[in-house]
Amino acid sequence: MSELLSQFRLARLPDEAEAFRSDVKAFLRAEMPPAPADVRSRSWMGFSAEFSKKMAERGWVGLTLPREYGGAQLDAFSRFVLVEELLVSGAPVSAHWIADRQSGPLILKYGSEAQRRAYLPKICAAQAFFCIGMSEPNSGSDLASVGTRATKVAQGWRLSGRKIWTTNAPHCHYMIALVRTSGTAEDRHRGLSQFIVDLSLPGVTVRPIHDLAGDAHFSEVFFDDVLLTDDALIGNEGSGWEQVTAELAFERSGPERIYSSIILLDHWIACLRRSADGEAHQETIGRLAVHLATLRNMSITVTSQLVRGASPIVEAALVKDIGTEFEQSIPAIIESAIAGDPDVDIDPDLYRTVAYLSHISPTFSLRGGTREILRGMIARGLGLR
Ligand SMILES: Cc1cc2nc3c(=O)[nH]c(=O)nc-3n(C[C@H](O)[C@H](O)[C@H](O)COP(=O)(O)OP(=O)(O)OC[C@H]3O[C@@H](n4cnc5c(N)ncnc54)[C@H](O)[C@@H]3O)c2cc1C
Repeated sequence: MSELLSQFRLARLPDEAEAFRSDVKAFLRAEMPPAPADVRSRSWMGFSAEFSKKMAERGWVGLTLPREYGGAQLDAFSRFVLVEELLVSGAPVSAHWIADRQSGPLILKYGSEAQRRAYLPKICAAQAFFCIGMSEPNSGSDLASVGTRATKVAQGWRLSGRKIWTTNAPHCHYMIALVRTSGTAEDRHRGLSQFIVDLSLPGVTVRPIHDLAGDAHFSEVFFDDVLLTDDALIGNEGSGWEQVTAELAFERSGPERIYSSIILLDHWIACLRRSADGEAHQETIGRLAVHLATLRNMSITVTSQLVRGASPIVEAALVKDIGTEFEQSIPAIIESAIAGDPDVDIDPDLYRTVAYLSHISPTFSLRGGTREILRGMIARGLGLR
């Protein structure tokens, strides 16, 4: 077996995780607000605090967090099933998404006991929503160059600078911000730290940015001499780079990097079933199904590595790179199938969904780290760089 494949020992979802799937499906049937496909295709951008609260009442926010902090203490396989079902139904999950996926696990791993007790129960109750403050105007792929700075003062830390592309900042209570606490931007990985920033503090300004589709899910966030108490620092001062790398593995390893266009694919197949010309697209659909099945197996394999306690950074990067290519191919393929047959009446919901996804699909390979950066990591992981 080649060295590349030896890292992907195929795993399957255990029976308990599959059994959990029927509970999730029943919940979604009962609680999912009815919505057209173009709204459901916004799933992990779709914000509904009420929906997140209903999930929390079932114990499904902070699913993998320990019971003593309010979590359900289930494993990453169960979380895979939950995330998969939420995405294929197009549930509006963005209120709790980032706290559940990465802020909670980060606080559990690196936070103090006081921070765990303060934040994790609120995350699990869907009372505390988090955003990620990594990118800055001159610091995206080159994250080590962040310039936003926290300076030690008698009362704690004084924070100044600016973050950009912060998903959901206007609706969030807290940001976990990567900032410089010593040295200069040229010092790279050294001197970075992570802070939990309460976004209601004086000196914080959030300005929404509209995307091509007219949605305003990301934002600029300004910090003008924001005073943070000492207990806002996560982990040790200067350990921010190591912590953020671990956080990015949580961000990249989930099935959401495969499913962003899945509502469109399912809706197209449903429309073809109702029309006479489904047969003409059988080969295309067969190819997409094969790609999806392979990617899903790879993603389950990455999940099994998380369950074993490993940190599959390179494997997660590989699945994210191929997964986002798949997500981007779906609107392109369906758009050209529709354009290739101008005499067929197009379902208006299909048209709106394909238009929306065609607009935003370029972002799929940017958010969470760009394709070029991931490919560099994969090459390094294979010893090619
Ligand atoms: C929808 C969306 C949501 C986002 N949400 C958040 C969020 O919540 N929080 C947050 O902090 N950020 C967020 N981001 C920002 C995202 O993480 C950055 O856009 C991304 O890391 C790229 O950084 P950049 O935009 O500064 O581009 P740059 O780093 O300037 O890159 C520009 C181009 O150059 C390429 N490039 C850069 N360096 C190299 C290299 N060394 N080798 C080869 N090619 C290279 C890149 O791949 C890219 O194609 C979001 C972005 C999007 C699109």
